[in-house]
Amino acid sequence: MIPAVMPTYGRADIAFTHGEGVYLFDVDEGRRYLDFCAGIAVNSLGHAHPHLVEALTKQAAKLWHTSNLYRIPEQEKLAERLVEHSFADTVFFCNSGAEAVEAGMKLVRRHHSAGGEPERSRIITCTGSFHGRTLGTLSAANNPKHLDGFGPMVDGFDQVPFGNLNELRAAITGETAAILIEPVQGEGGMNVPDAQFLQGLRATADEFNLLLFLDEVQSGMGRTGKLWAYEWDSIKPDVIATAKGIGGGFPMGAVLATEDAARGMTAGLHGSTFGGNQLAMAVSNAVLDVILGDGFLGKVHTVARSFQAMLSGLVDAYPNIFESWRGMGLMLGLKCIVPNGDMMTRLREAGLLTVVAADNVVRLLPPLTVEEQHVDEAVAILGQVASEWTSEGG
Ligand code: PLP
Repeated sequence: MIPAVMPTYGRADIAFTHGEGVYLFDVDEGRRYLDFCAGIAVNSLGHAHPHLVEALTKQAAKLWHTSNLYRIPEQEKLAERLVEHSFADTVFFCNSGAEAVEAGMKLVRRHHSAGGEPERSRIITCTGSFHGRTLGTLSAANNPKHLDGFGPMVDGFDQVPFGNLNELRAAITGETAAILIEPVQGEGGMNVPDAQFLQGLRATADEFNLLLFLDEVQSGMGRTGKLWAYEWDSIKPDVIATAKGIGGGFPMGAVLATEDAARGMTAGLHGSTFGGNQLAMAVSNAVLDVILGDGFLGKVHTVARSFQAMLSGLVDAYPNIFESWRGMGLMLGLKCIVPNGDMMTRLREAGLLTVVAADNVVRLLPPLTVEEQHVDEAVAILGQVASEWTSEGG
């Protein structure tokens, strides 16, 4: 018999009652877990952060939702702050990463049609990417595993190998509207392109009059140690989609764009019933208060650097278990030699929550509030599991 909850997930048989900072506590035994999954890079400030709890409860007592038929001052405030702290001039709010990417894809098509070139509708995407589970975002990523039985796909995407500028340039035609890419691939295995790659994309987009559209759903909001991953490459995109960490656990997403990129987006052309409601905006403004606070991102960077050094040590110490570490900031992964799913299970049993990615990678995505002592604790668990596995002949 089909369970009441549609069985679309392979879930671990564990549930949690509450969380505190970087820890989660389980239903059955009150056991404490170190949460380096963070709701898949969502709980950017950990669990039950006092500033978020206060913002949410205060707003909950006042006003939750009115719809976008009316002005929403909290939304205007958040948009202005995001504009101030990014390349963008304007922001659209929605409820998830896939919706943000969808909105961005509509925006780039509309940009060209408003500019008198409606034939420019195709978007170049990369192998190994993940942009969400809607038909459009699945078609963009073109991952056969995710598409099985869901055809026909949405037309309008041309895929090239991730990180290869020459092949990308060769795929550009008079119908190309934009390049859509994750600055660091998350689900695809924490893949970081070469240092010059984003700069090459920027130059290519300028040369061919394309929009550079970055999917910062996972890499954005401080995850890499800067507010946006693109900042590391000193470039400015035309559009980004973001979600996950921006709500700290409250479902929300956003598309940020330059005025020029968004030139076609006028009243009535796109919308969302829930997008940008008062509750979501209150929480997200509170997330920004913390992330933009003095020294916060600098500390993320510092903790990330020592975590990375320790991961390097683990790879050296257990070459039969780990092949390499990958990623940027606190968006990290260990490419395993042993099966990554089994590694995730063993780590969980030992008290560390992680999440797998493609290419046999286990992702380590702690809350951005993680301290050195938590990193030490995680590395000790990783070392213990690797050592036990080694002694079993793993
Ligand atoms: N884009 C990227 C880079 C992601 O990592 C994800 C989710 O993992 C998405 C888009 C989709 O986000 P959501 O699950 O909120 O729709």
